[in-house]
Amino acid sequence: MSSSDHAAGRDQSTGRAHAVLAETADLPAPWAAICGTSVGVVQGKWSGPRGLGSPDPCPECARLAPG
Ligand SMILES: [Zn+2]
Repeated sequence: MSSSDHAAGRDQSTGRAHAVLAETADLPAPWAAICGTSVGVVQGKWSGPRGLGSPDPCPECARLAPG
């Protein structure tokens, strides 16, 4: 699995970005990030500015889905 298979999710309570499997991103909210955190927003690609490029990407998601 490559990073292109992940969407960027955001935990609205913390503002932290998490990786969500792209194949589940079309399902209704909330989504489960690959680290297990529930996120209420999915916006763009995990590899983009709202994911790994955001100010606060989840370190566990970054470890599981690097670049
Ligand atoms: Zn995470």
